[in-house]
Amino acid sequence: MNIQNHQFDAVIVGGGGAGLRASLQLAEAGVKVAVLSKVFPTRSHTVAAQGGVAAALGNVSGDNWLWHMYDTIKGSDYLGDQDAIEFMCKNAAKAIIELEHFGMPFDRLENGKIFQRPFGGMTQNFGEKPISRTCAVADRTGHAMLHTLYQRNIRANTQFFVEWFALDLIRDADGDVLGVIALEIETGDIHLLQAKTTLLATGGAGRIFQASTNAFINTGDGLGMAIRAGLPLQDMEFWQFHPTGVLHAGVLITEGVRGEGGYLVNSEGERFMERYAPNAKDLASRDVISRSIATEIKAGRGVGKNKDAVYLKLDHLGEELINKRLPGIREIAKTFANVDPVVDPIPIVPTAHYMMGGIPTNLDGQVVEPVDGGEKVVNGLYAVGECACVSVHGANRLGSNSLLDLVVFGKVAGDQMVKQIALNQAHKPLPSDAADKTLARVKRLNQQTNGESVAEVGAAMRSAMQTHCGVFRFPDLLQNGVAKINEIAERVKRIEIKDKSQVFNTARIEALELDNLIEVAVATMHAANNRKESRGAHAREDFSERDDENWLSHSLYYKQDHQLLYKPVRLQPLTVEPFIPKARVY
Ligand SMILES: Cc1cc2nc3c(=O)[nH]c(=O)nc-3n(C[C@H](O)[C@H](O)[C@H](O)COP(=O)(O)OP(=O)(O)OC[C@H]3O[C@@H](n4cnc5c(N)ncnc54)[C@H](O)[C@@H]3O)c2cc1C
Repeated sequence: MNIQNHQFDAVIVGGGGAGLRASLQLAEAGVKVAVLSKVFPTRSHTVAAQGGVAAALGNVSGDNWLWHMYDTIKGSDYLGDQDAIEFMCKNAAKAIIELEHFGMPFDRLENGKIFQRPFGGMTQNFGEKPISRTCAVADRTGHAMLHTLYQRNIRANTQFFVEWFALDLIRDADGDVLGVIALEIETGDIHLLQAKTTLLATGGAGRIFQASTNAFINTGDGLGMAIRAGLPLQDMEFWQFHPTGVLHAGVLITEGVRGEGGYLVNSEGERFMERYAPNAKDLASRDVISRSIATEIKAGRGVGKNKDAVYLKLDHLGEELINKRLPGIREIAKTFANVDPVVDPIPIVPTAHYMMGGIPTNLDGQVVEPVDGGEKVVNGLYAVGECACVSVHGANRLGSNSLLDLVVFGKVAGDQMVKQIALNQAHKPLPSDAADKTLARVKRLNQQTNGESVAEVGAAMRSAMQTHCGVFRFPDLLQNGVAKINEIAERVKRIEIKDKSQVFNTARIEALELDNLIEVAVATMHAANNRKESRGAHAREDFSERDDENWLSHSLYYKQDHQLLYKPVRLQPLTVEPFIPKARVY
């Protein structure tokens, strides 16, 4: 096989919000940076983000980054690392103003300041009442953010490799990461991109589930690359189910709808959230609302033909407000639910949405791995965005904190990479077997006959995850789920593609994506089965309480022997007093 070599100071895998914020930092510092993306950068999932991005700007009423920090820690069910959360919340306002100066077209208040709306779990004065903290561009915030960042990158001369699919990391005997191996989708050629620093910004993996708000491209490729390179994945048992996905379609209806005053009702027309979260009601955090909906449906109070949904009502907001602040939602409801929300409620169900876990990093975006009771940096490797776990979201992310995570930590990682590149004049030599395992994987796929179909094995995986690892988790289902997903992982080793052509072979890409999805699914199932408590999005029937004495710790999953290690949560913030774990009520 013909392999082409390239050298860069920095290679970034991913052209979503996280990758583009980091690449901008590097390109503006004059560093030779390549951004690889398997789709055109502005088609990354960040473009689909609707509701907004959080920062304690205080444009609507007084706000304070410490309140934002408290909300985020409470939202994380105390699993988030308090130093990282302090860093993010403290730097949020600066990051938003910076985006504004980059040209991001935020909605405005009457006085010209950036518009902010209420979002779940975001409060004033440590939980007193909801606050408007989420900065928005109607219900298309991610679209505005991604296009702004892309244009700034064009201005800074970032070099893009569009429709290039990263396959694996190159790691030498010292454990240093020296770049990536990638497939050029258009030609089928394999390339070796050598780099002094490599950043994974490959986004989420919501496609391990059957019902998902995620784009088809969200297949956890960076996580697959990390785990195949012998690195652990952190907190993979924690998956956020968004309360309001369109029934049967999964397409997201933003929390911004409830922020603007929409609410949930059951078949009896009751506003049931008043029973589960008497204060925050429909603006409680997502895990709480998803469980409440699942409980209503289980109790027979669901709506629709199969009584398997509840209604999201917003007609009382009026056509004018809906058209101004939620135009995309009106469109989605008409297209995917066949209802006009100006008149009728939208049938919704909890739908897999966001991966709280990921590749463990420190506050500078450097990937870390455990050594003798401590932690060490994996030299040359960085991760940012949804594929990373820094960890600011802990066991449950608050809405509008992900877009913030991308820009705050994207910038920091970019800065840290610039520093590291300045220290290393020369590239470290590549190991002679750098590409061997990857080439063997590609070759097997090219030669396999009489194998399993990608579609069938993929469907089996999604169904297993949905049934065995959903909103509520049951001991027997988890245990059987582990056996089932291990079995499916064996089948993935024998997948076959009928079309073996080189040029723009999307069947090959789907097969390679399944290689990554299955790593994420296996890690999730094992980590979920092993955590014997309920915390945030991980709700077990047999251990229904949070157990801080035994489980106030992050899980670290290794592919080798499905090993699980645990490390303590960092409860000490950088400059303020810690928030001591207490019961979480909304
Ligand atoms: C429908 C929806 C709405 C959301 N709304 C909000 C919101 O309002 N507020 C909020 O804070 N969060 C929201 N989120 C979450 C948030 O949008 C995401 O977590 C975030 O955008 C992820 O950004 P990212 O840069 O990490 O990854 P992405 O934007 O997903 O980008 C990943 C990039 O990696 C590339 N890539 C992946 N694999 C490979 C590979 N093998 N080779 C080459 N390139 C690869 C892709 O091409 C892409 O460019 C929403 C999520 C969804 C799904």
